[in-house]
Order: sequence, then structure tokens, then C-alpha cells
Amino acid sequence: MGVLKTDQNIYSRTYVEEIRERVSPIIQNVIEPNAEAIDREGKFPRENLLALAKEGWNSVTVPEKWGGLDLGYLGFSIVSEEIGKVDASTGLVYAMHVGATQVIVLYGNDDQKERWLLPVREGAIGTFSTSEKATRGHVWFNLSQAKRDGKDYIINAEKSFTTSGGYADFYILQTRTPDSEDPSDFSYFIVDGHNEGITAKPWKALGVRGNHSGPITFSNVKVSHRDLVGREGLGKEIMEEGGNPIYLLGIASVWLGVAQGALKAAVDHVTKTVNKGFDNSLADHQVIRQKLAEVKIQITALKAWQLDLARHFDEFLAEGKPLSLLGSEVVEFKIHTSETADFAARVAMDVAGGYGYSEGIFERLYRDARAGIPMAPSNNIGRDQIGKILVGLPLNLWNEGK
Ligand SMILES: Cc1cc2nc3c(=O)[nH]c(=O)nc-3n(C[C@H](O)[C@H](O)[C@H](O)COP(=O)(O)OP(=O)(O)OC[C@H]3O[C@@H](n4cnc5c(N)ncnc54)[C@H](O)[C@@H]3O)c2cc1C
Repeated sequence: MGVLKTDQNIYSRTYVEEIRERVSPIIQNVIEPNAEAIDREGKFPRENLLALAKEGWNSVTVPEKWGGLDLGYLGFSIVSEEIGKVDASTGLVYAMHVGATQVIVLYGNDDQKERWLLPVREGAIGTFSTSEKATRGHVWFNLSQAKRDGKDYIINAEKSFTTSGGYADFYILQTRTPDSEDPSDFSYFIVDGHNEGITAKPWKALGVRGNHSGPITFSNVKVSHRDLVGREGLGKEIMEEGGNPIYLLGIASVWLGVAQGALKAAVDHVTKTVNKGFDNSLADHQVIRQKLAEVKIQITALKAWQLDLARHFDEFLAEGKPLSLLGSEVVEFKIHTSETADFAARVAMDVAGGYGYSEGIFERLYRDARAGIPMAPSNNIGRDQIGKILVGLPLNLWNEGK
């Protein structure tokens, strides 16, 4: 694995720091300077994604044979976190994209890898289109169903949210195949984002305004049999064993980055903001230092968990084991990081006073940080699942609603 991994110990802090340093020029010179305009203008972060693609970061988990860096889930998690530190919108687009490419790495055939993974080096972007208007946050249920067209398929689906909707070059789209009689018997298709019949509605939301996660409709979209991932009905296995855990590790790492971005902005502000009447700074108030310390402790704990979890993912990848064996841990991590980002953004706004409430970095972080909480599994659904596992109740994911 990996162009960075030579004889180094990938479990060392030095190795992790090396990944951070390698991606840092793009973060500092491209993504951070673009963040404010992306939010203000609701601009899709194409320029950021192209800069990442050029250096191979959009193929971070992809084997070298298919143009990737092959840095595994640890590399994916660290890069997602670094992006999240400066721009949540780009972070979410990135995490969904890498998750989508990894579905092709794990379950695609060589023909699909050649056609979909090689263009990623040139800047092609992928994403997941899973959630449906009809079944809402219960993303393991699809009412949409493809029709047969000879050997190929015609797809009609109303998706409620899709990151990079209208901008993605390919969608890992979840729907049922023609013979499916059960909403949980679904499949994944790779759908060319430039096909006729795809209509994305504008993304109008509180935050992460650049990630364009609005509703998207697939109307009589023709998809070749060559773009069915695996075989008909493989969707449940892909979702449980690969697709979901991977994208969750990515978005959770973005939220860990957002928490750090909020803490950094808050520390900068309180140390530099002087009350000339008393000749002291905001950092001279014990209550402010106390609040910042609370955030710092949460972040430090999460960073240790992140590395442990990502390395576990990599071990499972190397041994060909399904990620579902890790149980609910990645869901727990997503809940904790998204709520820590929300907490950090609230503390940052608090310590920055009226300045924090005014238009600028603090209110942007505050708006952005809310997005992780409803993302699937929503933190409510996630907690329900974790609790059921704890007390030995069945999850009933696949048979509810029948
Ligand atoms: C920024 C953003 C990006 C997204 N990107 C994508 C993407 O790329 N691809 C994609 O497919 N989807 C995406 N989504 C959709 C997301 O994953 C969820 O499907 C969606 O947020 C659920 O919203 P809803 O309004 O349908 O929630 P609902 O399902 O209507 O839920 C409403 C409330 O009820 C709670 N609730 C519902 N059911 C239960 C239950 N069984 N137990 C406990 N509580 C419950 C929920 O937690 C929530 O608080 C994105 C969403 C956001 C906000």
C-alpha cells in the first residue's frame, strides 16, 4: 500500500504527519482561500477538487494500477480531516467522492475501473445517490425500481439529497432492479452524470452551501448493463460491508476537522482581541480559556479514536474482511465527531461575542457544523441502532416497512 509507505511504520505519528504535510500546500494555497466565496456564492468547489485530483488525492484509496495513491483508509481519513479544517463543503464533496470510488475499487470489474477510476486523475468526481424522497432517512430502503431495456436498464428515481448533485461526473446510484420484490433488495449502478434525464434542483440550505446536496431526479435514464456494480441484488452487501462504513469514516473525519477549524479560529480571535479599557485580551478571562479547553479535550480524544478506527479499516481491507464486522463503531464515531463539530462551533461563536454572531467565519462554521447531524444515519437513527445492538434487540433494518 501506498507511495508514502516505504519502510516506515504506518502506525507512527511521523507517518500521519507526513500525509498532512504532503496535502498541506493545496489546503493552504487553494482550499482555505476559496472557502469564504464558496459559502457566500454557493459555488461548487470545482477548483479545489481539480487541485486535489492533480496530485492524486482524489484517488487516495485507489490502487496504483488504477492511477491511485493507494494510501488506504488512514490516508483518506487524514486528508478528509485536513480539508474539513478549512472548508466543510469541500470536505463533504471529497468524502462522498472517495467513498464512491472505493465502491468501484472493491466491487467493480476491470472494465468499470478503467472507465471510471482512470478519469478521476483528470478531475472526474463521483458521489452517492442513495436517499429517496419516499423513504427519507431510512436509506436502506428504496421504492424506486429500474426497468429492463434489453440487456440494459432504464432508471427512474427521485432522490431527496445527493452531494455534488448536478456536478458529479458519476453517481453510485442505489435502486432496485426489475425482479426485486422487496425494498431492501437493491443494487448499485454507476450512472454517467452527463446522461440525459438527470435534473438537480438548487441546494438551498443553512450551511455547507458549496456541497450542493439538493434533490435530484433521474427520469428515464438509460444505463448500460456494463455499469451494474457486481450483480443484481448485491446492494445490501455493498452497503453494509463497504459503501456505508467508508463514506461514514470520511464524513466523520471532515467533522473532526471542522471542530479543529472552529477551535483555531476561536483561539486566534481571543488572543488577538484586546479590550483597551483594561489593557487585556479575551484570552485573559478564565471562563473563556475553560470553554476552549473543553473543546480541545474532546478533539484530542477523537483524534486517537480516528487513527485506531482507520487502521482497523486498513487491516480489514488487507485481509479482505467485511467492514460490517466492526459493528456500530463507525456510526458512533460519526455521531461523536459531528456533535463535537457542532459544540466547537457554538463555543467559538460564544467566545467571539457579537463579532462571532456577525457575518464571517464564526457564523459560517456554526451553520456548516449542523449538517453532520441529519446525514445518514442521522444521529437519532444511529443512536437507536447502537442502543438496540447494546441490549441485544434485532435491528430489523431489512424487514421493517414490509
Ligand atoms: C448536507 C447533506 C448532505 C447529504 N448528502 C447525501 C448524499 O450524498 N447522498 C445521499 O443519498 N443522501 C445525502 N443526504 C441525505 C441524508 O443522508 C439523509 O438521508 C437525510 O438527511 C435525511 O433527511 P430527511 O429529511 O429525509 O429525514 P427524516 O428521515 O424525515 O427524519 C426526520 C427526523 O426524524 C428522525 N428519525 C427518522 N426515522 C427515525 C427512526 N427510525 N428512529 C429515530 N429517529 C428517526 C431523524 O433522525 C430526524 O431527526 C445528505 C443530507 C445532508 C443534510
